[in-house]
Amino acid sequence: MKINEIFKSIQGETSYAGLPCAFIRITGCNLRCSYCDTTYAYEEGREMPIASILEHVAGLKTKLACITGGEPLRDKDTPLLTDELLGNNYTVLVETNGSYDIRVISQKAVKIMDMKCPDSNMSHLMHWQNIHYLTKSDEVKFVLHSRRDYDWAKEMIKEYRLSEITNVLIGTAFGAILPRTVVQWILEDNLNVRFQLQLHKYIWEPQTRGV
Ligand code: SF4
Repeated sequence: MKINEIFKSIQGETSYAGLPCAFIRITGCNLRCSYCDTTYAYEEGREMPIASILEHVAGLKTKLACITGGEPLRDKDTPLLTDELLGNNYTVLVETNGSYDIRVISQKAVKIMDMKCPDSNMSHLMHWQNIHYLTKSDEVKFVLHSRRDYDWAKEMIKEYRLSEITNVLIGTAFGAILPRTVVQWILEDNLNVRFQLQLHKYIWEPQTRGV
């Protein structure tokens, strides 16, 4: 597999936020979101066999692992890597941009699936069928840039009853919109969602890599 980086940090997002976590960032992405903060993962990386990845992750001494990217589901070996980690008693989070069929990933892993809002310019490339494959232990994530994105998220949550089928996360693209503004909208509309900040961007400088 082509791996961009493997590192230990705290999980900055999701309902696992704040926990120590081993991140495995897989090289390559099929999308080009307007706000992408991991453009360095489009090409950079080195080939690593799964055994080496597991060895590297074991050295990080945490049992929470997050497979991210780029887009992990672009790589045909990601399901196998997921299974190997699960088999070694890791809790495995798989972050995906939502454009590939998520059924290739074990039900025992937690899928963190983006819902690409209009300002990402990538909404049209989502694999909408995925919504039917989400479970209660999975999470969907809206990253907002604007009121337009918020209104779209609200509509999708209602149309697909997302809060009933899975965990819904709403956050802001760093610096794009004030967190307190979004929190106010959520409270006014009484949305059953979890608001989140990208913790790592507040702890370290927003552009810092490997955190
Ligand atoms: S899906 Fe993620 S890695 Fe790919 S372009 Fe969008 S933000 Fe960047």
